Amino acid sequence: MNELNLVLLGPPGSGKGTQGERLQEDLDLPYWATGDILRAAVRDETELGKVAKEYMDRGDLVPDEVIVGAIAERIDSAEAADGFILDGFPRTVPQAEALAAKLEELGRALTAVLLIDASDEEVMRRLGGRRTCVENGHVFHIEFNPPEKQGVCDIDGSELVVRDDDEPEVIAHRLSTYHEKTEPLIEFYDHQSLLRRIDGGAAPDAVAEELRRTLATLKIEDDF
Ligand SMILES: [Zn+2]
Repeated sequence: MNELNLVLLGPPGSGKGTQGERLQEDLDLPYWATGDILRAAVRDETELGKVAKEYMDRGDLVPDEVIVGAIAERIDSAEAADGFILDGFPRTVPQAEALAAKLEELGRALTAVLLIDASDEEVMRRLGGRRTCVENGHVFHIEFNPPEKQGVCDIDGSELVVRDDDEPEVIAHRLSTYHEKTEPLIEFYDHQSLLRRIDGGAAPDAVAEELRRTLATLKIEDDF
């Protein structure tokens, strides 16, 4: 296989970020979370970074074309010669269309879209159970990684709280945005036979193993 151009898809709390980092190590490909790309473009003062900064400074959302442009800058560089892993983009069907058009311009295409799926209940359980220490941000989980003493950080003894991001109503809002805007992408990519489903409800090691098997299958398909 010449290139492995991957998109990671999935609800918040599906473990996408963790798996993305593992994949990055396994495959030795650049892993880009969209927020990082925009921040890097702004920091490096690339042309698109300057445009993006104008929007951000005004408190406006950065338009899709600008984000796609910033991603294209990275894709069209030596570091992505063998492929890339995108996380957090595309988030909507129009973004996916813009990405496809840009890739075509570059003579490339996506190899696969990996959907790491998790139910709303599972997401609620994972994100809603997190407790963060106020002093140093150490993270615990009431079910999966409980502190020795309830409400107290094992490491520095400071108070454990529910971060604003982990409040049930905030999680519910992120989930409803995901269902409304991002979920249509599943069908979009399934139509193009790019979608591969992975059960994100399993333990992280099992998810990583399933990802590995999926990628191995892609390689076999490509050899034929
Ligand atoms: Zn702490």
